[in-house]
Amino acid sequence: MARKAVIIGAGIAGLATALRLRQIGWEPMLIEQARARRTGGYVVAFFGRGYDAAERMDILPALRARHFGGVEMAYLKPDGRHRFTVPRRTVGTLLGERGLTLMRGDIEAALFEQVDGEVPITFGTTLTAVEQHANGVRVELDDGTAIEADLLVGADGLHSKVRDLVFGPEAGFRRDLGHVIAATTLDHLPDGAPERAFTTVTRIGHLFTIANLGPGRTAAFFTYGTPDPAAELAKGPRQALEPIYRDIPWAAPEVIRSLPADGVYFDSVSQIVADRWSEGRVVLVGDAAWCVTLFAGYGTSLAVAGAYELGTVLQRHPGDLPAALREWEAGLRPEAEERQAMGRRNSGSHAPASRLDLLKRDLPLRLSILPPVTRWLGNRLRMHHR
Ligand SMILES: Cc1cc2nc3c(=O)[nH]c(=O)nc-3n(C[C@H](O)[C@H](O)[C@H](O)COP(=O)(O)OP(=O)(O)OC[C@H]3O[C@@H](n4cnc5c(N)ncnc54)[C@H](O)[C@@H]3O)c2cc1C
Repeated sequence: MARKAVIIGAGIAGLATALRLRQIGWEPMLIEQARARRTGGYVVAFFGRGYDAAERMDILPALRARHFGGVEMAYLKPDGRHRFTVPRRTVGTLLGERGLTLMRGDIEAALFEQVDGEVPITFGTTLTAVEQHANGVRVELDDGTAIEADLLVGADGLHSKVRDLVFGPEAGFRRDLGHVIAATTLDHLPDGAPERAFTTVTRIGHLFTIANLGPGRTAAFFTYGTPDPAAELAKGPRQALEPIYRDIPWAAPEVIRSLPADGVYFDSVSQIVADRWSEGRVVLVGDAAWCVTLFAGYGTSLAVAGAYELGTVLQRHPGDLPAALREWEAGLRPEAEERQAMGRRNSGSHAPASRLDLLKRDLPLRLSILPPVTRWLGNRLRMHHR
């Protein structure tokens, strides 16, 4: 009889896990608390181990079809005057041949297409209790039903409820990096923003980017340093961003005015540091387990890799779940920890906190057209463990 898995969360980690478990002959089901698919989000670089996993799961063609090659990175002063540009060719070389530039929603859509009709998905629902026993795990849902399964996968992101219920409260695992991010897709390209470019305005402590990946594919992204992320989040995106970006005349006020009422990803930049990712028949995957943050630029790649590799170990140890989960974690942890360290190191460079940090961020970018610097930056970005 096929083994059953309940997966909580239909984000990138949850959808990829559902696909992979289906591929190895399990019967996964997805439970998502949002009422409908969450298609939004900013632009992500997808590479390294996530790219390898996508290739082996056979979703690379669907991702490649959505890949946008050839973006340039333009850096502006707050009033819109040009500072410097990293040309398209250099950006492409930095990411390498086995790297893609995608909207987060592109990865979500590619994965969703694969599981649609194959894996049951229940929206608008979450779990309320978990009970493990000798032969399985019982998951109670807030619609009053209960499911018996062989495995419970917590793919419910940074604020995971599975982690709360089984491993302990979020505060014991969360490490705030002192920043807030807001990201959203836009239905138009603001006046003066170039096509096929990441255009970034940086002021000490505050950053704002508009990314355009071709017609109909525009996103905006804000990040700023704050000693109290919770207080910022409590205000909601528009009220939090408006006073901070009011005097960045280039495009920011217009974008903030047109922010959708919902669909803005607005959260603190926080890592999850947990000394184990499984407990009996419960396993955490993706941000729920190891959130590396956008400062590491690797969250979606690692989520897909984690999902793929989970399937591999379950297949390798069909009768021994503890051995499978031990091997899985041992294989992933070194890279997850290294990416987290990179995320912490980079936290000063996204929204540079001082003139010195700004210089440290800009110097390699300004020099990146020089082939040795391109190689050095590319190697730093792509480092990955096998
Ligand atoms: C709509 C959206 C937009 C995003 N935009 C960005 C962005 O612009 N920049 C960035 O760096 N990162 C963004 N992220 C986060 C990024 O997708 C993740 O860091 C990365 O892809 C790893 O994904 P994940 O599946 O582990 O977690 P997530 O992407 O957070 O997915 C978790 C999923 O679980 C669901 N969920 C949460 N709690 C419960 C619960 N109790 N019960 C059931 N379901 C639950 C969520 O609704 C979500 O669908 C975004 C995430 C979402 C959901």
